[in-house]
Amino acid sequence: MAKILCVLYPDPVTGYPPKYARKSIPEIQVYPNGQTTPTPVGEFGFTPGELLGCVSGGLGLRTYLEANGHELIVTSDKEGADSVFDRHLPDADVVISQPFWPAYLTAERIAKAEKLKLALTAGIGSDHVDLKAAAERGITVAEVTFSNSISVSEHVVLTALALVRNFAPSHTIATLGGWNIADCVSRSYDIEGMEFGTLGAGRIGVAVLKRMKPFDVKLHYYDPHRLSGDVEKELNVKYHSSPESLVNVCDVVNVQTPLYPSTQGFINEEFLSKFKRGAYLINTARGALCDRDAIARALESGQLAGYGGDVWFPQPAPVDHPWRTMPNNAMVPHISGTSLSGQARYAAGTLEILQCFFEGKSIRKEYLIVDGGNLAGTGASSYKLD
Ligand code: NDP
Repeated sequence: MAKILCVLYPDPVTGYPPKYARKSIPEIQVYPNGQTTPTPVGEFGFTPGELLGCVSGGLGLRTYLEANGHELIVTSDKEGADSVFDRHLPDADVVISQPFWPAYLTAERIAKAEKLKLALTAGIGSDHVDLKAAAERGITVAEVTFSNSISVSEHVVLTALALVRNFAPSHTIATLGGWNIADCVSRSYDIEGMEFGTLGAGRIGVAVLKRMKPFDVKLHYYDPHRLSGDVEKELNVKYHSSPESLVNVCDVVNVQTPLYPSTQGFINEEFLSKFKRGAYLINTARGALCDRDAIARALESGQLAGYGGDVWFPQPAPVDHPWRTMPNNAMVPHISGTSLSGQARYAAGTLEILQCFFEGKSIRKEYLIVDGGNLAGTGASSYKLD
């Protein structure tokens, strides 16, 4: 029987389970591209809408795994050689981790994980796994593609509006008992008529473009592969053949590219100097796509009018991380893909992948990132090993 090592974020400080705001969540059966939502066999082991991504939630996996004789270890203790994660890693068959509280599976850790066969991301984005080392070891890396893409796209729209309309500082003035409208509006604009672009037009990038269109902005995108003519026409979106060409004309830039060695730090001082002065930058993809200090400097100099998103490096971010306090930021902890709605789908997808793995069935191609010693499925189109 197998040992499953699951790293999840800590429980709410107010205790588990929390008091839920709503009794149920809408049931989604099909994603916008026609792909079905996860289809595990039998009961889920949880009620959709429950908090599943923290240690006590355990992704709702315990019932299925223990009924089948497997051992499940769930912990949030993931840093340092003496962490629960490092102590159990050498005899774990499966590691499950979420990007929000990533268990970094470095090459060194993979070398110690002698029995590891499956690294499963409960969510989307498997850059916390050294994909090259996993491929060399024949470890399968899988994630729950599309599970929280719409969740993230909604957060991008929220962040764009929050930045352009100067929401957070105005909210703070209200909560502190103030009424100084002039201070609230001296950085507040309408997004209508602005040029809005996305770097990376995959599942989330396209969902963002679709959601921004009704705001009567002018849409732009860059992606290594061009969208179909029909989609370009439907969205009335302009294609750019380079990221530089896009940032040169956009007032709001959204970054939605996966993190792999050659995209790491590509948003650096030189690239930021090509943005329109006073542009807003939104990043819900990965913190390490950006040069941390170059972002803070661009906000201080006014080259960027605002920066917002939910992704940092490392995670959790240290208390003195400059993005917590830099001017005109709309940063939150890594939450956009772990709404209770998103969790229900990625927990169900995690169960589906585990069932396939233990029952010797093929994992859906769209869930695969690395398989058979190389990039596979979604991994083959969206990632590079170097
Ligand atoms: P997809 O795989 O659907 O899309 C990624 C897109 O990025 C693809 O169209 C790909 O191009 C494109 N791309 C790859 N390399 C580059 C590059 N160098 N420059 C520009 N575009 C590039 O993934 P999703 O849209 O579902 O997710 C994107 C990322 O968002 C994830 O990798 C993850 O890091 C992050 N994410 C964050 C979450 C959060 O909670 N904040 C939750 C979910 C995801 P092509 O395939 O055409 O070659």
